[in-house]
Amino acid sequence: MEIELLQVMDALPGLVWTALPDGQVDFLSRSWCEYTGINAEIILQHWQDAIHPDDLPELLERWGAGLASGEPREVDARLRRFDGEYRWFLIRTRPIVDATGRLVKWCGLNTDIEDRRRMEALLAGETELLEMVAGGRPMPLILEWLCRLVESVTVGCYCSIAVMQPGTTRLEHCAAPGLPREFIGSIMDASLASEPFLSAAQSTKQVIVTDLLSDPRWEHCSWRPVAEKRGIRAYWSIPVVSASGKVMGVCSIYYDNHRTPVPFDHGLIEQISRIASVVVERTQNDATLRRSEAFLAETRRLSSTGGFTKRVSTGEIIWSEEVYRMFEFDPNRPVTLDMIRSRVHPEDRLSFEDMLDRQQRALDYEHEYRLLMPDQSIKYMHVVAHATKDSSGQLEYIAAIQDVTERRRSEVALIEARSELARVARASSFGVLTASIAHEVNQPLSGIITNASTCLRMLGADPPNLEGACETARRTIRDGNRASDVIKRLRALFGKTDATMESVDLNESVSEIITLFRSELHRSRVALQMELAASLPLITGDRVQLQQVILNFILNALEAMGGIDDRPRQLFVKTEHDADESVRVSVADTGPGFGTDDPARVFDAFYTTKPGGMGIGLSVSKSIIDNHEGHIWATANKSGGATFSFAIPTHQKQRKGAFGRSASWVAGVTDMPKFK
Ligand code: ADP
Repeated sequence: MEIELLQVMDALPGLVWTALPDGQVDFLSRSWCEYTGINAEIILQHWQDAIHPDDLPELLERWGAGLASGEPREVDARLRRFDGEYRWFLIRTRPIVDATGRLVKWCGLNTDIEDRRRMEALLAGETELLEMVAGGRPMPLILEWLCRLVESVTVGCYCSIAVMQPGTTRLEHCAAPGLPREFIGSIMDASLASEPFLSAAQSTKQVIVTDLLSDPRWEHCSWRPVAEKRGIRAYWSIPVVSASGKVMGVCSIYYDNHRTPVPFDHGLIEQISRIASVVVERTQNDATLRRSEAFLAETRRLSSTGGFTKRVSTGEIIWSEEVYRMFEFDPNRPVTLDMIRSRVHPEDRLSFEDMLDRQQRALDYEHEYRLLMPDQSIKYMHVVAHATKDSSGQLEYIAAIQDVTERRRSEVALIEARSELARVARASSFGVLTASIAHEVNQPLSGIITNASTCLRMLGADPPNLEGACETARRTIRDGNRASDVIKRLRALFGKTDATMESVDLNESVSEIITLFRSELHRSRVALQMELAASLPLITGDRVQLQQVILNFILNALEAMGGIDDRPRQLFVKTEHDADESVRVSVADTGPGFGTDDPARVFDAFYTTKPGGMGIGLSVSKSIIDNHEGHIWATANKSGGATFSFAIPTHQKQRKGAFGRSASWVAGVTDMPKFK
């Protein structure tokens, strides 16, 4: 062969060879011999020895088939290098024919495809790893798989990965399928801190130790003898860094022989660190997400809260699992408005439709309604909804819905307990009061009786004892005054304003009392109508005392309607701003009214028409209102029942004393207040 041609063949990036038409190899380029490290003459006869035994049968078969057909062929096979390492080659054969078309020779070119094959394997491995990540496989399993991948693409190496525990600077061993536990333990041992592994984590830079025995940096490293004992010669540590630059772990590759990274190794290092960072970041994020989802689910369960979205234009509603549970519907059934309506309590249907109307106006809203479940139980739902636009600009509601049944039940129980308490307090304080009044008044009264009879006896004597009679008459007067003082003191006690004078919103005061009475009204089958004047001016007064008056009006009204069964029991509560710059509160009922009695008498102390009555409530109320410079009065309604009112001027005089002075109240006949 021409010298020049030989030179060209040696310069080609591959191993060139030729063979006779019968397949016998008659030429191998110098690069062929150099690669295998075998003498040209020997290799010509024994080229098959350089082929990996696993790949030889297929190679021979394909080579034979090519010879028979005279067609070109391509086959992959591993060729042993001079140092014993096998590398993958693509072996291509081409027939060479003369001018007449006769086969004269075979020409072959073997190209080193080891790096390409490794990269392909790495790429396929990467795809598989990412699928594992997406499939939510556990992190240690995925990292172990990554280690195996690294070990499979590089001969004579072991791989280990340690992961930084979230929120700490603690590295924990995660995977090292090819290394014994004790050895991994030695890497993780903090007392060997200066070894390359920790150095990579701290500096966030790769640490490449090409020869552990000769590298002066690790000469005094306490880990070196451990590594040496295990037969480690080269050691590369690669930090696993997140997208934001945070160290999330360290990937280490150990070699039995000293080793300097070649371009393929650099590519490998880059790829491993990238894959590991995706795996760690993603699995840690997933874990955090799962934790917060579980936390959210638990919170939702504990607070009985669910969520839903509603696209207003299409009416499409999407419920969370919790809402399905609350409504007791099959979670596999798409929810419709009619399904929801079928659960809404009949009494709340109007307000529910009203809420749907509000949705059309794109307003945020809060709403409470009841559900009547198939077993006739009642649930209270509280909805808070926020209007927003979806990605296509359509109006959408995002809402939280909470089952507040328990809360409502305890509120009702609380209100019942409170109103019961109010009743008991009233009864017991009246009881105590009665005893004390009886005691106080009884003494002067018996004095009066004794004195009067003594007086009579003295006058009837013969001769009449005028002086004695005068004296006993004087004592009678004294006892009479004492009795009257007792009454005065009582009134003073009730009218006393040791409480604070403050700005009072009577609408608010009325609402508070009504809240207390809701369950009582319900129990007594009394329908309530309220009409609270808008922008009612504030008055100055004792809020608690004024509420006592309102409470008294309402309790009396309820007691008055207790025996009414031939007509609806209705309670009307109204506030007004009167023309004379006073604020009025009226409580009307559909009870029996006053009959032929003068309504004005009800404010007299001890006036009562009830068997167990005290006749004190209204008299005390009068004292309170007097003390506020206001008026209190009662009227009989034309259509039956009574109306009790009080009015407090918005501009009161500065009050100095503790007691009200005048009892200026009016009584008359009016119609029922006009409520809407
Ligand atoms: P008591 O309720 O203990 O009788 P009050 O001073 O509160 O004491 O009431 C005095 C009286 O006024 C009652 O006994 C009753 O005759 C009359 N009264 C009070 N409120 C009404 C009402 N809403 N309808 C009819 N009569 C009433």
